[in-house]
Amino acid sequence: MAELIDGKRISQEIKDELKEKVAELKGQGISVCLAVIQVGDNPASTVYVGNKKKACAYVGIESLAYELPEETTEEELLALVQELNGKKEVNGILVQLPLPKHIDEDKVIKTINPAKDVDGFHPQSVGALSIGQRGFVSCTPAGIIQLLKRSGIEIDGRECVIIGRSNIVGKPMALLLLRENGTVTICHSHTKDLKEVARRADILVVAIGRAKFVDADYIKEGAVVIDVGMDRDENGKLCGDVDFEAVKEKAGAITPVPGGVGPMTIAMLMHNCVESALMSQE
Ligand code: NAP
Repeated sequence: MAELIDGKRISQEIKDELKEKVAELKGQGISVCLAVIQVGDNPASTVYVGNKKKACAYVGIESLAYELPEETTEEELLALVQELNGKKEVNGILVQLPLPKHIDEDKVIKTINPAKDVDGFHPQSVGALSIGQRGFVSCTPAGIIQLLKRSGIEIDGRECVIIGRSNIVGKPMALLLLRENGTVTICHSHTKDLKEVARRADILVVAIGRAKFVDADYIKEGAVVIDVGMDRDENGKLCGDVDFEAVKEKAGAITPVPGGVGPMTIAMLMHNCVESALMSQE
C-alpha cells in the first residue's frame, strides 16, 4: 500500500515559511504585491482567482484584483498589463487563463514584464529554465519538485517518466526533473507502448486531463506516482488522471486528488511573488 504524499500539509508548511518571510520583509519596509487580472466570469477561473486572493491574505501579500468584463478588448487588457508593468509597488502580474477567444493569450503573456511573470509563462522565463538560468518557474511543476523533495524522495539518477507535454506542466516538469539529475522521458498522445514506457518509471508524473486514465498496468511496483489531473469522474466528483484506488496498491508513494498537486500550485505562486519582491531589491 502506497505512502500518501500530502500536498495539503506540505503546501501549508511552505505558506507558513513564506508568511514569516513576508513579515520579515515588511519589517524592512518591503511589501509584496500581486495583481490578478480576470477577464469575464468563467466559474472555474473565479474559484481559482478566489483561492489565490485567499492565499495572498494568509501569507501577508497584498493582492490587487482586476475583474474585467468579457467584452474587454485586447488593447484594453494590454494597456492594463503595461500600466502594472510600470507600477513599482506591484511585484507580480497574473492574468488568469483561459482568456476570451477574441484575445490573443500569447500576446498578453509576452507583454508581462518577465521580472513580474510570477506564473512563469513568459518565453523569457521558459528560456531561462531551459538553459538553467534564474527566472520564474511555472507553479505546478515547481510545486511537484517541492512535494518530492519535502517527502524525502530522491530524484538524482532515477527514471522519471512524464505523460503530457503541455507548456505549463509537462515540458517545464521535464526540465526541472532534468535539473535535479533525473533521467527523463516525455510521453504524449503519439507515444507507442505508453504502458511499457510508464512502467520504466521510478517517478511517474501524469498530466493529461483524462479521468482515471492511468491504471495499475502503467505502474512499476514501488514507483512514485504524481497525479496532476483535475478531472470529473462519471458521478461528477473531482478526480485525477490516475485511478487512485487501483494504483495505490502497487505504487510506493502517490498524491491524492484533491489534496496532492493542487494546493502546491498556489503555494508556489506565493513563493514566486516573494522571490519577485526580493529580486526587485537587488
Ligand atoms: P493539456 O494542455 O490538455 O495537455 C495534455 C497533454 O496530455 C498533451 O501533451 C497530450 O498529448 C497528452 N495526452 C492526452 N491524452 C493522452 C493519451 N491518451 N496518451 C498520452 N498522452 C496524452 O493539459 P495540461 O494543461 O497539462 O493539464 C493536464 C491535467 O492537469 C488537466 O486535468 C488539468 O486540469 C490539470 N492541471 C492541474 C493543475 C493543478 O494545479 N493541479 C495545474 C495545471 C493543470 P499531445 O501533446 O500529443 O496532444
